[in-house]
Amino acid sequence: MNTNIAENIIELKGIKKYYDNFMAVEDFNLEVKKGEFVTFLGPSGCGKTTTLRMIAGFELPSEGQILLNGNDISNLPPNKRPINTVFQRYALFPHLNVFDNIAFGLKLKTVNVTYKNNAGDAIVRKEKLSKKEISEKVKRALEIVDLEGFEKRDISTLSGGQQQRIAIARAIVNEPEILLLDEPLGALDLKMRKEMQIELKSMHEKLGITFIYVTHDQEEALTMSDKVVVMCDGMIQQIGTPEEIYNEPNTVFVADFIGESNIFNGKMSGKKKVRFCGEEFECLDDLPVGADVDVVIRPEDIEMTAVENGSITGYVQSVIFKGMHYEITVKSGKNEIVIKSTKSANINDFLGLKIEPEGIHVIHAETNINIFDGVITAIDKVAFADGEFECDVTQLYPGYKMYDNMLVDTEGNELNIVGTQVTVKVPIASVSMSDDIEVGSTDGHIVSLIYKGDHYHYIIRTKSEEDIHLHDPYLWNEEDHVSIVIPKDAIELSLRVSEE
Ligand code: ATP
Repeated sequence: MNTNIAENIIELKGIKKYYDNFMAVEDFNLEVKKGEFVTFLGPSGCGKTTTLRMIAGFELPSEGQILLNGNDISNLPPNKRPINTVFQRYALFPHLNVFDNIAFGLKLKTVNVTYKNNAGDAIVRKEKLSKKEISEKVKRALEIVDLEGFEKRDISTLSGGQQQRIAIARAIVNEPEILLLDEPLGALDLKMRKEMQIELKSMHEKLGITFIYVTHDQEEALTMSDKVVVMCDGMIQQIGTPEEIYNEPNTVFVADFIGESNIFNGKMSGKKKVRFCGEEFECLDDLPVGADVDVVIRPEDIEMTAVENGSITGYVQSVIFKGMHYEITVKSGKNEIVIKSTKSANINDFLGLKIEPEGIHVIHAETNINIFDGVITAIDKVAFADGEFECDVTQLYPGYKMYDNMLVDTEGNELNIVGTQVTVKVPIASVSMSDDIEVGSTDGHIVSLIYKGDHYHYIIRTKSEEDIHLHDPYLWNEEDHVSIVIPKDAIELSLRVSEE
């Protein structure tokens, strides 16, 4: 047997889940080791709960396999899986007391008991648990959740945190191999959340079973997990320990979602050298010279110095006291740079900023060009991203010219191009948006915004879920409905070769 399989309690292989045409989870691959505390982290709607429900068996994957201890359980019903789930809402029975709530599943449970008959043969019988066994198990579960002696209490007399602990006791009393927790602290106030985070972590250690936890709270994920799976739009962005996710984000999304970051557009200017904010910096990442990159710098990795000692200089714009540190914003040229420091500064101070190579994380820029599949709909129009845009079709057919609103060859023969499939490329820098829906050629909602020092990087999603990236200096809100403007000369067309 493959030792890797033996170590992995759960494996998700190429899991996809679609509802009609909507892909809720896309190509999800994950290995969870026995006893690990794994957290699915991501914004609302990114597919965390759907993935958890597929592990529990409440949903079936559209594609892919779920292995438990190396065996395929993709089609096994939930009650046949050694897995229990704790939900955000406690789902306790209000008319039963604490004991009966926890014992509910145990009273229904049967176990195999082996007897010897008179002839000495082993006989296996299914038997219910005895009252004594049940009460011992309930007592142990209550000890683990730190509520010893609560057996007789009515559910209505318990606080929210206590109710959630009873829900956990009820889930662990069956001794599952895996406990799934879907935002279990979501309904609690901040103070109780923090207390319960520590308790859950210690419960995990006491029990030694595998926890798979869902949250959209990055601090919660970093505090509790051995491994964090960061998700966005049904896809895994990064899997790693809390330290890896925080210190070495793989994508701009992870950098922006986990903790606070300064993110700048940059370019590799030499071997392990990157240029951003108008200066060249040494870095540890060895990317090809000339590559467009995103540069991520945590606010605590920037040091304020005397002007002559800084790699860059700037004026202090704002200083906010945050209890343990100051959050200081410095304007350097067109860029805003956020710094976390135990030292304060004065507004309008002119100072230097120093960043060590270890503090500079360079990520290949995701893309600086939008690419779409399109179709020519008229002699000067191309349709893509749910809209129709003016374009110059002569770029598709060298040697042809526009004549009398027709595309003709040197002999004057007309070429009918309506219906031609094309690939459309539009530089991000050429796209703009407007809150006047009539102005643009298509429209959509803002689904993502990331601040990059002197501008925001936006993603606009159209009706049919095409994503359009653009830069804008102003702050818009997520969910804003906007129209998209693309000038004719920014649209680059090439003939799309059909896959056949
Ligand atoms: P949240 O933190 O808000 O619970 P999530 O990351 O857990 O979000 P999911 O509940 O997994 O997200 O949902 C992922 C996407 O799948 C969402 O867009 C959701 O609307 C969609 N979805 C989930 N269940 C169904 C369903 N039964 N039918 C259609 N779409 C669904």
